[in-house]
Parts: sequence; C-alpha cells; structure tokens
Amino acid sequence: MKFHEMGQTDLLQATNTSIKQGLTEKEVKKRLEKHGPNELQEGKRPSAIVLFFAQFKDFMVLVLLAATLISGFLGEYVDAIAIMAIVFVNGVLGFFQERRAEKSLKALKELSTPYVSALRDGSWTKIQSKELVPGDIVKFTSGDRIGADVRIVEAKSLEIEESALTGESLPVVKQADKLREPDVSLGDITNMAFMGTIVTRGSGVGVVVGTGMNTAMGKIADMLDSAGNISTPLQRRLEELGKILIVVALLLTVLVVAVGVIQGHELYSMFLAGVSLAVAAIPEGLPAIVTVALSLGVQRMIKQKSIVRKLPAVETLGCASIICSDKTGTLTQNKMTVTHMWSGGKTFKVSGIGYEPAGVFTRDDQEIKPKDEKQLEQMLIFGSLCNTSEIELKNGHYVLDGDPTEGALLTAARKGGFSNDWLQSQYRVITEFPFDSVRKMMTVIVEGKDKKQFVITKGAPDVLIERSSHMMYDGKSALYSGEKKAETEEVLKQLASQALRTIAIAYKPLKSGEKPTMEQAEKNLTMLGLSGMIDPPRPEVREAIKECREAGIKTVMITGDHVETAKAIAKELRLLPKKGRVMDGKMLNELSPKELAEAVDDVYVFARVSPEHKLKIVRAYQENGHVVAMTGDGVNDAPAIKQADIGVAMGVTGTDVAKEASSLILVDDNFATIKSAIKEGRNIYENIRKFVRYLLASNVGEILVMLFAMLLALPLPLVPIQILWVNLVTDGLPAMALGMDQAENDVMRRKPRHPKEGVFARKLGWKVLSRGFLIGAATILAFIVVYHRNPENLPYAQTIAFATLVLAQLIHVFDCRSETSVFSRNPFENLYLIGAIVSSIFLMTVVIYYPPLQPIFKTVPITPGDWMLVIGMSAIPTFLLAGQLLTRKK
Ligand code: ATP
Repeated sequence: MKFHEMGQTDLLQATNTSIKQGLTEKEVKKRLEKHGPNELQEGKRPSAIVLFFAQFKDFMVLVLLAATLISGFLGEYVDAIAIMAIVFVNGVLGFFQERRAEKSLKALKELSTPYVSALRDGSWTKIQSKELVPGDIVKFTSGDRIGADVRIVEAKSLEIEESALTGESLPVVKQADKLREPDVSLGDITNMAFMGTIVTRGSGVGVVVGTGMNTAMGKIADMLDSAGNISTPLQRRLEELGKILIVVALLLTVLVVAVGVIQGHELYSMFLAGVSLAVAAIPEGLPAIVTVALSLGVQRMIKQKSIVRKLPAVETLGCASIICSDKTGTLTQNKMTVTHMWSGGKTFKVSGIGYEPAGVFTRDDQEIKPKDEKQLEQMLIFGSLCNTSEIELKNGHYVLDGDPTEGALLTAARKGGFSNDWLQSQYRVITEFPFDSVRKMMTVIVEGKDKKQFVITKGAPDVLIERSSHMMYDGKSALYSGEKKAETEEVLKQLASQALRTIAIAYKPLKSGEKPTMEQAEKNLTMLGLSGMIDPPRPEVREAIKECREAGIKTVMITGDHVETAKAIAKELRLLPKKGRVMDGKMLNELSPKELAEAVDDVYVFARVSPEHKLKIVRAYQENGHVVAMTGDGVNDAPAIKQADIGVAMGVTGTDVAKEASSLILVDDNFATIKSAIKEGRNIYENIRKFVRYLLASNVGEILVMLFAMLLALPLPLVPIQILWVNLVTDGLPAMALGMDQAENDVMRRKPRHPKEGVFARKLGWKVLSRGFLIGAATILAFIVVYHRNPENLPYAQTIAFATLVLAQLIHVFDCRSETSVFSRNPFENLYLIGAIVSSIFLMTVVIYYPPLQPIFKTVPITPGDWMLVIGMSAIPTFLLAGQLLTRKK
C-alpha cells in the first residue's frame, strides 16, 4: 500500500512513529545512519588537484615555464630552478586563495539552509532540514518550504504551491484524509506535501515518509541545476579590464624587448626579461584577490549579523540610496504589550510589560476586575480563543511561541484571570481561517459548553469596522450606526496617535448546523472593542536612521499598521521630516505607476499597505533611479524582495520563501543591521579599489622602469627573477592586506556610489598612472645614479633599483588607503598591512644579504649610505603627490 492510501494508524505503524511524541533522539540517530542525511546530491566540485593545476593554465605562465625550460637547456640551471620555484609558490598561493574563496562560499550556503519544526522526544524543536528522517513528525505553516516528502495528518486551510515539481503554479488545496486510488499523478496526491514545495496558506502537521534522494524531488534532482556562483558586476568589469590589460602589458613588453634588442641587448636575455615582465605586469591574481576580499567581507558581515546570500549584493549594498523597511520587528522590537482596551464605550488601562501575566486593569485610575466588566471579559476571552500562539514558562521566563500581537492578547487575558487551561475546558475551536496580511484579520469558529457555535474575528480595526453591522454596548447588541462607527474611529485615532498598534475583536453567533465559508464568516459581525498595544522602537534604530541620512540613504517605513500608529512611531524615530508625506494603501491603489513615481520621493511612510503594494513601491523608487533595499518576511513579500536591488529577508520571522528570494538575511531582524551591512558593503568596495589601485600602479611602475631603461640605452635595471620576486612578494601580500583594511572615517558620510560607476571612476585611473610613473621614474633614477658611479658593477645598481622599486611600492600602499590624503589615516591601524610590509622588507633583506641567495637573485649587499638613497628615492612619489595635494587644499 502506498502512503497516500493509508489511514493514520497504518501510516504510523508503517513509519514506526508516534504522533504525540515523535521520534526519540536515539531512534533518529539510527535512522540517520540508515537513510543518510536529507539532502539532494549535488554535482561534483572540481577536486583539489584539478584546482591546483588550473593555476598554471594561464597563458603567460605557460610561456614563462617554456622560457625557463629553454634556459634550463641552455645551462642556466639556477635561473630555471629559481623561476620554477617562484611560479610554483605563486600557484600554491593562488590555489589557497581560490580554495578559501570556495570554502567561504560553501559556508555561506550552509548558513542559509532552511530549518524545520520537528517533534522530537515529545517537544517541538527547530532542526536543520537535512537532519530529517523518515518517521519524523513535522509541522509547517504559510511561507515554509517543505523539507521532505510528508504524508499530511492535519491540515488547516492548507494550500501548497508545487510548481517546482509539477510546473503548476496555482496552489493545491491539501487535506489529511486517505486517498482510494493507488495510482494518482503527483499533482493529485492531495494528502501529501513534497520536498521543495511551498506552503502558501494555512498550516499542517505530517509524518515524513521520504528523505534525500528518496523523494519526488530527489527523483528529478539530476535535472536541477545547482546554479553556479554568480560573479559581481565589479568582478565582471575587472575581468574585462584584465583582458585589456593583458593586451596593453604584452604590447608594452614587446616594445621593451624591441627597443632593448635595437639597443644591442642580447635577444635571449631580452626574451626572458620580457616574459618575466609580462607575467609580473599582467594582474592575473586580481580576480582571486577580489573574490577573497568579497568573501572575507561577507564573513565580517556575518559577525555583524547579516548573511549575504548572493555575492553581487555586497557591491550593490554600497550603492543603496533607499531602504524600505518593515516597521514591526525591524524598526520596533516586536515585543507587544496590551496597554489600553476599549469596549462598550469604556476605556481601560492595563499595567505590566512583556509576556509575564503580572498587571492590573484600571479605569479612571481605579483598579477594576475584568470579570465584573462583562464586555471586557468577553473581549479578553475571545482574544485568546482567536489565537494560534502559546506562552510557556521556561526557566523562570515567559516565552512566546508564535506571533507577538497574539502573545500580547494572551497575556492580557491572563492578567484578567483567564488561563489557557480554563479556556480549553470551556470552549472548543472547530475551524480556523488563518491570519494573512492581505485580509489583515483572522477568524475562528468556536463551540461553547452549551454546544452553541460562534465566529470570532480579530484584525485591523478599520477592516473590522467595515465588516461589522452591530456593536455591543452595555451587554446589548445594537445597530452599528454611522455615529457609533465615528466614535470607534475617534478612539482608534487616539490610540494610534500614541504609537499603539490596534486590534479589533468582533464576533457573531451561528445558527445550529451553519457552516460558513471564510467570506461568509467574516461579514455582518458584531464589534466588541479595541485593544491598543505598545511595541517600543528598537533603541539603536534612531541613530542608524540618522547615519543613513548622512550617508545619503533615505529610510522609508512600510507597514500594514494604522496610519496614525505608523506616523507616531516614525516621528519617534525621527524618520519623518517636516515636509515628509505619509501615504496609505488606498492611495497606493489609486495612483498609476507613473503617478506614484512622481509622488514617491516625498513619501517617508507607507501605512496600511498589503504585501503586493511593496512591489509597486520598489518599482516607483527604481523608476526614479534609486537603488532600493527592501525588507520582507512573508510569502507575499517575495516578489518585492526579488524586484528590489537588495532584497532583505528577516532571519527570525522570515519565511523560507522570503529568505530564498532575498540576497541578504538579517539574523536579528534589526534595521540597524542593514545599516552595518551597507557600511561594510561600501568598505569592501573601497578596499577593492584600494588594491586595484595599488596593484596597477605597481605594475605600471615595473613596466616603466624597464621601458625607461631601454629608451635611455641603459642595461637591464632588473633581472627577470627580481621582477618575478617583486610580483610575488610586494604585490600579493600588501594587496591582500588592503582587502582587509578598515573603513575610512567618512565612508558613511559620502553619497551612495553610482551603480554604473566604472573601475577607474573618481580619478582612480589618474592616480594609477601618475603614481606608477613616479615609482618607475624614482627607480630608474636610483639605478642611474649608482650605475654611473660604478658602471663595472651592474648587479650593484640592479640591487639598488630592486630595493627602490620594492620600497616605493611598500610606501605607496599607505597612499592607497585613502581617497584623499595619505596623512588622513593612522598608518598603524591595519595590522595585516604592517605585517605584510614587515615581512616583505624582511624577505627583501634576506634576498639582498643572505649569501646563498645572492647568486640566484643576482644581488649584492648594499651599504647604509645606499639605503639613504633608496629610502629617499622611494619616498619621493608619495611626498611629491602628498605635497601637491596639500598645496591644492590651501
Ligand atoms: P509590518 O510593519 O512589518 O508590515 P504589520 O504587523 O504592521 O507589520 P501586518 O502583519 O500585515 O503588518 O498586519 C497588518 C494589520 O493586521 C496589523 O496592523 C493588525 O491590525 C492586524 N494583525 C496583525 N497581526 C494579526 C493577527 N495575528 N491576527 C489578527 N490581526 C492581526
């Protein structure tokens, strides 16, 4: 018998599990061993060896290897071996960089794997979906992605979208009864939920019957393409630039070689020098360093509680000019407490904070007992019945499992003396129409002890006012006249303007045997009253909004809440400037996309919006040229999250669907975290600019030294192995360290970067060329000075040129740390950089002074006096340009 044909008893027997207790941890272990983890097998990644050899497939490196082989045959063994060794070390470094990049990308992927609720040893726990085993009892609700193949045993208005499996995009209504036919197509198995499909509505409980490759999804897994790593716009631009640079470097090298040969240099030595120069001048390591810088940045972001799901987002973050943020939970704490209740024309206040049931009810500062106020009592009871959340006492703390709005209502009821146990003994919930943020309400049908049934609806007051035909007053139901509605609206406005979130509760008795649909249940209601609850702003948000404003980023609040509540909180957060506008959902409906785009720049708060409005809002801002970050948590938020330039999902309250659509996840749901991520995004980009600037200027310097020498009919100022050494040591290490540099102080005081900004924007091209020119000139000058004094001792002058080039580059590193001036930063801030410089200098002195290496690197020891010359020459470029800057400032 197939699982969908089984009744519950058969099913539990077949899977050997208990619906009340779930599996024991011991049993889970056993099953995990038997069935393996609940994962789809992915395509194979390149093995370490393949990755290692891939480092040497670069064209110029191959040419270099060939050249060394030739020099080996010609008897230049030392040269050949040394060059081989350097190429090898280069390859090893490249290999580790790429491995590291790959590993961190994998770690990122693991971080965003979905969690599921499973019943283990009698209690519900959140586990990673790969830990699921057959027999696990799982529950799922709207927005969840189903973790394994599950036979449903309980379904509440459950609808699942199975397009990943069947291609059918309309959700399928699911139910728990067994099916009679053994052979039904996948799309018709209404009592099963399949791995990878999405719950679009309602909730359910089920038994896992298939995991990993043994699921419907596993069977088609081969067809699924595990999308490769997408490269970021900058990476792509650098790749293109790399291609151009190869051509330029080659042309220049050919020029150097040609001029050299014309000047009478030996062809073979010019050839080897030329190839070494080409290898050094082509920034072949750039893409790998960029990836490492990006992924290291991503790791820093994880420490600051944001997970980047798509690498390009790191760059886009730095361009963000608008953040559209949800209010509840992101700008506020989402810790709700009912402080006011209004029913039957009376206003009550409730004391206490949090979910602890300690607090009293007062009216006009006099304590009252809710049990003496019939209508208030009814509101408290109904608020607890129309509720899917629970509060438990765990280790002395009251912990909420569920929605804070509902938690606040439960707590208020407990403060009034109505415990859950008592409620359950008196009432039975028969049907539930779950909350969704489009209807903005939730409904249950309840049966009392007297067998009488009635509807309870709770939701946004403006929605319920419209759907109510009657209202309870002094224990009696009266027609809900325009006057009474106006009174309710007035109270609502008063509560909302105190930044309180408001919920209305209404009900309606049912005739015996009446079984209304959701639409029928949620109309002609009788209004009971309003609850007002505080949800304090997160303390750090005000400062974060201010910082964003200074960084040229506008914060926009988007909320399903009442206009007045939204306005009051926006004011508290200083988010709404004097001339800023508030727009509500109705107006959003009326405006055409074009009209909205025209209006949207003045709007700071959108209230009473539905999720589908978010898409319209994102588009409007994008239409005006903004780069938009948009937060979201529900299923319906996914389209807007996808459309946004940076889709941001909530780590705690976010559904799987929202997370999957997003490029950034906030681990703590906090707005301030978006700000930190943007700051980090800007910094990462700036760091990439820093090392691009450093590497390219160094390369320009290296080429120019050789070119100058050839044009001036001088001997080779650097021997090939020295050039390769510079490429390996002084280029690689400091560039990596720049990639980990701290942000400049004003990084959050600049305007957002334009998304189309090119690599050489903001004068980077000029900086590279001018500095490269000066480095080249200083080096050749130092060479000429010494060569003229000792024309018979070429290695001496070459050593001086070598030392000057290295030092000039190492000093230049400090320039690269700032967009403005080398003096604007503390040089000892970046310890990696200090480490890189100290080790580069150390390695240079080893090469110059360690006798066994001298014949290999063609160096000779130089005197302290020479060092004065070297230091003087290598500092010239920095001081010349810094001096020029200073005079310009005056
Ligand atoms: P955000 O600010 O993140 O958009 P929100 O909570 O204001 O969140 P929704 O969750 O869409 O937005 O809620 C919209 C309205 O629906 C709320 O203002 C409230 O009146 C009502 N509401 C919220 N939660 C519930 C619930 N669990 N049951 C009934 N009504 C609810």
